[in-house]
Amino acid sequence: MKLPFLRRLGRRRQPCDDEDFLLITWDSCRYDTYLTARTPRLDAHCRPRRGWAMGTYTLPAHVAMFHGFLPHVFEPAPFYNRHVQQLWRISHRDLRNPPLVSFPPGAGIVEGFRRRGYFTAGIAAMDWFRDTAALRDGFEYFRVTGIDAQAQNRMLARALEASPGRSCFAFVNYGETHSPYRHRGMKDPNPSLEARYSPRRIFNQRGVWQEAWTFDQEAFASQVTCAEFLDARTGELLDFFERRGRPTTVVVCADHGECFGENGLYGHGFYHEKVMEIPILIFRINAPPHPAPPSDPSADTA
Ligand SMILES: [Zn+2]
Repeated sequence: MKLPFLRRLGRRRQPCDDEDFLLITWDSCRYDTYLTARTPRLDAHCRPRRGWAMGTYTLPAHVAMFHGFLPHVFEPAPFYNRHVQQLWRISHRDLRNPPLVSFPPGAGIVEGFRRRGYFTAGIAAMDWFRDTAALRDGFEYFRVTGIDAQAQNRMLARALEASPGRSCFAFVNYGETHSPYRHRGMKDPNPSLEARYSPRRIFNQRGVWQEAWTFDQEAFASQVTCAEFLDARTGELLDFFERRGRPTTVVVCADHGECFGENGLYGHGFYHEKVMEIPILIFRINAPPHPAPPSDPSADTA
């Protein structure tokens, strides 16, 4: 049973109710991959920050994001550092710095937006979203496409155009940066690279740190190429949101990183610095940046 004040909180109109939100994840994209890639479309909005994932693989990392925990950045920057200000979170009476958007307890962020009247739409590449109902909770519209960023953009645009006049929480999980690091139009599949990162090989590695190891430069270069491809696709999606014309807060990040042979490890799904370290960018389009939160003089004094 919910307390009456929490029910009122759920219905209360908030200043952000005319704001759209767009969360984009580049699956498995390492931070150093992003820094190496040419990313002119996203560079036009902001620089990447070095963030730390909330999970080692797709399922927990996205569950965390859908419950308010974006990757954490150790800089005193709102939205990047949840101790400065969170972008969205479940309400808590003891919180000194209010988030931009808060929701009553009892449901996740996506369901919270839906109950507020938002159109909640998600398009995901990875099979985790097909197999796990918890990752689709709260979405009014959800499709799992496999790895095809252009098709994902088209689907999301069509879904949003079919719900005119409604604020939206939109989510896209792109898969090109996931193994085997390929994108549409890429020439010449590399059989040895695909074999090294096949599920059979990744799932059956020993999972033991090795003293002697070599960095897989070929895999890294392929992920960089895919990151450049996703910069262009993300730019096209942002063009759509700019034409839509509504103030939109955008988060672009990786859900987790990837090992390319470090310590003898490949892929993700285990704790390693290169699995936890990810790029994250947060910015706003069609409106000036959100004002900084009031500083809290009591912080760090308790
Ligand atoms: Zn993932």
